[in-house]
Amino acid sequence: LAEFEERFQAGDHRRMLSGDIPAEADAAVPLIVYEEGKFALDTAALEKYLLHEDVKDRNVVVLSVAGAFRKGKSFILNFFLKYLYHTYGSEPVETDWMGADDQPLKGFSWRGGSERDTTGILMWSKVFLATIKEDEKIAIILIDTQGTFDSGSTVRECAIVFALSTLMSSIQVYNLSQNIQEDDLQHLQLFSDYGKLAMLDSGKIPFQKLYFLVRDWFYTYEAAYGEKGGQEFLQKRLRVLPQQVPELQSTRRRIKSCFSEIGCFLMPFPGTKVTSNPHFDGRLSDIDEDFKTSLRELVTSLLSPENLLVKEMCGQKIKARDLVQYFQSYVSAFSG
Ligand code: GDP
Ligand code: MG
Repeated sequence: LAEFEERFQAGDHRRMLSGDIPAEADAAVPLIVYEEGKFALDTAALEKYLLHEDVKDRNVVVLSVAGAFRKGKSFILNFFLKYLYHTYGSEPVETDWMGADDQPLKGFSWRGGSERDTTGILMWSKVFLATIKEDEKIAIILIDTQGTFDSGSTVRECAIVFALSTLMSSIQVYNLSQNIQEDDLQHLQLFSDYGKLAMLDSGKIPFQKLYFLVRDWFYTYEAAYGEKGGQEFLQKRLRVLPQQVPELQSTRRRIKSCFSEIGCFLMPFPGTKVTSNPHFDGRLSDIDEDFKTSLRELVTSLLSPENLLVKEMCGQKIKARDLVQYFQSYVSAFSG
């Protein structure tokens, strides 16, 4: 016990197992909440993290995950967190970023639960600091979105959550189940139209990178898991063909015109323990190997130092401190 206390005082307790989420202080912070028919930004929270001395003058990478409710958005974000703590944490560890097999998955609250009816945008309180391309100092911010998407009265709210998170992010991950349906593309077009409104039509491409993440991909005979298969599949899906009805053509053209880059990743089914076992706590030993293999590829494509995408507005890189103002103006554009 004495030895433990000594180590504790020496700060050794902070050196956790790789892949573990350290300091209890790190948590999901609601940034934008929908209440009483209005979207409200928690400016104090935003300023606390973005105007922090170590953060404010850095370029930023903002990764957001959006899409329908209960499709594993928060679940996958928590693996992104594991990777970020491991790769950009203060003490790089030699071990595997995924961590031990029997650790429950922590981070953004997943599996629904109490917040099932909330609509809004959360950020992870820990902002990760890194240096890329030799000397570019950056800050990495992770954003989770919540919204139901399915009941008629909330279509507008969901469109706004999607639009806001897309405007704020340098990479918007559009999380979809099983396929990219015509519906999904139409929703996306609606979301993007909302986003364009907030941009006040500067004439520039409004958004940066859109990344379709298709979960539970079963059609491996059509396209293989991962990014390469995803790109092939996406090209087919977004192709504009003369025999298509004009509506389908225009949806595709408009989506392409909104984003400077569009990617796609096909993710395997994670296994029945993940989807059906009520006691599943996120531990790796309950997740299918295929899923874990693809997860490694996914995380690298989005978050490894050489693949990080820095946030730009109208072609200019912006600093963390500038983000505060942008967020404020976007939210006020939608709060009327
Ligand atoms: P969110 O509402 O989109 O954030 O969804 P959650 O992350 O809270 O996950 C909802 C449920 O989906 C949980 O019970 C997860 O175990 C399960 N889940 C996580 N990933 C996947 C996946 O890739 N496929 C399927 N079918 N279920 C998943
Ligand atoms: Mg969630």
